[in-house]
Amino acid sequence: MKTIYKIIILYMFSVGTIVYIHQNIDNFAKRSKKHQENILLKQAQVHYEEQMNTRRWNAGHGGIYVKPHNNLKPNPHLEDNILKVDDNLTLIKINPAWMTRQLSELLSSESFKFRIVSLKPINPINKSDAFESKALKYFENTNDREFYEFENEKFRYVGALVTKKECLNCHAAQGYKVGDIRGGISISFSTEEYNKVINSLKDQTFHAKIVFTTLAIVLTLLIHKQLKQTYNLGLEVQNRTREINNTKNILQHILDADRSFLFVLDDTKIVMANKTMLNFFGYKTVEEFSKDHEHISDMFEKNDSGFYLQHFMNGEHWIHYLQREQAYKNLKVKLKSNNVQKIFKPSAKEVSIDNKKLHIVIFDDITNELRQIEKLKKEAAKDTLTRLFNRGKFQEILIQEMALANSTMQPLSVIFLDIDFFKKVNDDYGHDVGDKVLVSLSKILKENMRLGDSVSRWGGEEFIILLQSTPVNQAVKIAEKLRKKVSEYKFDKVKNVNISLGVTQYISTESDKALLKRVDEALYEAKNTGRNKVIMK
Ligand code: GH3
Ligand code: MG
Ligand code: MG
Repeated sequence: MKTIYKIIILYMFSVGTIVYIHQNIDNFAKRSKKHQENILLKQAQVHYEEQMNTRRWNAGHGGIYVKPHNNLKPNPHLEDNILKVDDNLTLIKINPAWMTRQLSELLSSESFKFRIVSLKPINPINKSDAFESKALKYFENTNDREFYEFENEKFRYVGALVTKKECLNCHAAQGYKVGDIRGGISISFSTEEYNKVINSLKDQTFHAKIVFTTLAIVLTLLIHKQLKQTYNLGLEVQNRTREINNTKNILQHILDADRSFLFVLDDTKIVMANKTMLNFFGYKTVEEFSKDHEHISDMFEKNDSGFYLQHFMNGEHWIHYLQREQAYKNLKVKLKSNNVQKIFKPSAKEVSIDNKKLHIVIFDDITNELRQIEKLKKEAAKDTLTRLFNRGKFQEILIQEMALANSTMQPLSVIFLDIDFFKKVNDDYGHDVGDKVLVSLSKILKENMRLGDSVSRWGGEEFIILLQSTPVNQAVKIAEKLRKKVSEYKFDKVKNVNISLGVTQYISTESDKALLKRVDEALYEAKNTGRNKVIMK
């Protein structure tokens, strides 16, 4: 659910709770007030009942006669108001109304008063006041027989005086019948205690409301804050996750864009690889790759050179071997897929992530570089004019051939040749024509070479030929054949060109210098003894 909805629900619930608590507190206060009122009412009712019982007792006797005292005069409003017992004793009649009034005078105090009241009193002193008249009229108009109200710090109560048979003795003359309301007992007491309780209740109610409302608001704000924090945290997590994913994507793109194979090994198992590598092997994911190949080394091409990595290098797993030796050895990896072979320069770095040791491995594709180097090497070995091997390459070949001859015990011969009077060719026909002579001669030499023989330009118009598995007498024949071919060849413009040749055979274990010196001497002799000839040494 969205946080904003949660907050709206929280506030609605909070307001609802506050209203509910307020209502309950109000209801409790109302019930308590009613209870206090009932206590007042009960007091009034008890007093009313007492008075009524006393009056019933008095009326039952048709009024009672008492001895006069304290200047008590007979009530002029009563019939038979005295009873002469003898000359010494005359009793005075007390009817219920007079009795009630006397009791009221006797019992009334500041905080409690009661009296008998009537709308049509026999004795005017019993005339009802405004509240009492209201109560008496209420009795006449309803079936209720009690009425009460709060008035100026007082609880006022009137209980009805209902005309009974015994009442008619006195009141028949006023026209009352049985059941008529003649008046009431009016009781009033101070509500000081009641007010104290009610005020205290009001205070308590108010405080309870404040406490509960504050509590609800504080709780709501706390939950609101918590929700907001959770929401902000969620946003933060979302932003961070997005940033991490973006960075991850960028990194993945960088890794995928790299020409090298980049992959990660957990111990010896591949757990991550870039697209360049997966595409080369024809897989879309590392999982697919891993299904078919437990180790990448399964695909390392076999090679006798110790510089190409194999699954085990001297009994050690290639990744550990690579990590140790990469700084010291020019290690390589050869991989083949779909008939495409590539050569890589491997490097690895061990990293520790979450206490796990991982190997980050880079196979740098150096196929093109190696090809380029190979091409340059070949180029560097050639003489630019004649396309024959140059003197540098000749030296290299000579060392190899000498070693081969030593190991195979096969004879190795050398022919050293020089164009006769070449300076004159240049002088007579120009340098360019001289160059063409050099190229044509090179062609003749090459065409007459056998498999395994090699011809190089020693420098200027001098050439040197290595003849594999060839004894010197056979080399002399080949030299003679070459001399003949050249002398018979019609060079452009120049027509006839001759060459002088020195021939010798390699003596096992002698140095290259010694060999070259001897063949040079042979050539020198050919020059000095007439040119256009072959001399063997
Ligand atoms: P010799 O029979 O005694 O060998 O006589 P030569 O004239 O051939 O000998 P020399 O060493 O006096 O002259 C060699 C000449 O070869 C000198 C030089 O101008 C020429 N030469 C050397 N390299 C080249 C080249 O690349 N192109 C051309 N056109 N001439 C070259
Ligand atoms: Mg020369
Ligand atoms: Mg020459």
